[in-house]
Amino acid sequence: MKNRKLLMIPGPIEFTPAVMRALGMPTTSHVAANFIDIFGEALEDLRKVFLAPSGQPFILAGSGTLAMDMAAANLVEPGDGALVVNTGYFSERFATMLSRYGAKVASVGTAGVGGAPTLQEVEAVLQSSHPRLMTITHVDTSTGVATNVKELAALGNKHGALVIVDGVCATGGEVMHQDEWGIDVALTASQKAIGVPPGLALLVAGPKAMERFKSRKTPVLNYYADWHEWLPIMQAYELRKPSYFGTPAVNLVWALNVSLKEILAEGMEARFTRHGKLSTSFKAAVQALGLKQVPVRPELYATTLSAVYYPEGVDASMLKHVDEAGVIVAGGLHPAIKTKYFRVGHMGAATGADILATVGAIETGLKKSGYKFEVGTGIHAAQKALNS
Ligand code: PMP
Repeated sequence: MKNRKLLMIPGPIEFTPAVMRALGMPTTSHVAANFIDIFGEALEDLRKVFLAPSGQPFILAGSGTLAMDMAAANLVEPGDGALVVNTGYFSERFATMLSRYGAKVASVGTAGVGGAPTLQEVEAVLQSSHPRLMTITHVDTSTGVATNVKELAALGNKHGALVIVDGVCATGGEVMHQDEWGIDVALTASQKAIGVPPGLALLVAGPKAMERFKSRKTPVLNYYADWHEWLPIMQAYELRKPSYFGTPAVNLVWALNVSLKEILAEGMEARFTRHGKLSTSFKAAVQALGLKQVPVRPELYATTLSAVYYPEGVDASMLKHVDEAGVIVAGGLHPAIKTKYFRVGHMGAATGADILATVGAIETGLKKSGYKFEVGTGIHAAQKALNS
C-alpha cells in the first residue's frame, strides 16, 4: 500500500517528480558557473510566467510574507498614503506591514467575511485620498475570495497609485497579465501554484515601481529586504556573473528553474484554462452535495482554491475522516468563521483525478459525520464538469 496521502491544501501543494529530484541534487556553490546559469534562467522565466516582459524579478530565500515585506519596505516612505483592498486575513497582514513602515493606511471593504469591495467603493477612496500605493490580494486564502485584479489595477493606474498585487495563492494559477494589466508589483511564494516546496519569495517589479524605489528620500527600513542590496545581485545573475549578498537557497532555485520550465512548457493560457476546469469541477461537486461556499457571490470564487462551509450538524472533526480516506484538506483560517468551514487547494500540478479523489474523500468524511446525501452525487457532478 502506498504510504502517502494526497495533499490538497492551499499550499504547500503536491510537487512534480522532476521538481523534487532537483531538491535532492548535490548542492553546488552559489557562484558555480552552472548554478549562475540556473539562477539567470529562473529570473528570465519568472518574467515570462508573470507575463511581465518589462519587469525586474527578485528571487529571495524566504516565504511569501517576505515578498510582501520586500514590496512594503522598498516602496513605502514614512507618511505615504496607502490603500488596502481588504478581502480577508492576508489583506489585513499587508495593512499591518505598510503601517509598520510608516504608511497612513486606509482600508476598503472590511464589511463581512467572504465579500469584496466594489470597484465604485475602491475608486471613491482613490479619488478622495490619492494614496501613493494600493495593495490587492488576488486570492485571499482565508476566504477563497478572488478580486477583479484587472479592473482594480486599472483604477490604481488612473488615480496614480502604485499597484501591488499579493498573488501568493494565485500567481501561476489565476489569470494574471502583469504588464498588460498595469500591475507595478506582483509577488508570490514558491509553495503554491508556482509548484516548488516552501522557501522562496518571488517578486516582479515593473518600471514605475523601480522608479519609485530609486527616487526614495529615506533609507529602506528593512536590512534583509533592501533592493539596494538585491538589485545588483539579480542583475549580476542575469548577466551570468558571480555575486553575493546573502546565500541563495541553491537547491530551491534549482527546483524553481525546473518548475518554471514545466509551467512554460504547458503554456500560460493552457495553464489558466486547466486551473479553471479543475475549479469548476470541484465547485460543481460542492454544489451538488448541497454545501455553501464562503465567497458571497459566484463571481468572487477563486480558481486556485475553494472555501466551503460544513453543512448543518457537521464540524471540523470531519477532516479526520477525510484524512483517513487518503486526502489532506485544510481547516478554516479566517478568525471570524475559523471552525465553520474547510478549504481545498486545487492548483499547480493537480489533475482531474486528484479532484475526483478529493471529492470522494470528502463524501466519505460527510457520510461518517452523519450528513444525509446520496453517496456519489459529488463525484458525478465533478466528473460531468471535467468531461464537459
Ligand atoms: N498572502 C497570501 C494570499 C497567502 O495565501 C499567504 C500564505 N498562505 C501569504 C500571503 C503568506 O505567505 P507565507 O505563508 O509563504 O509567508
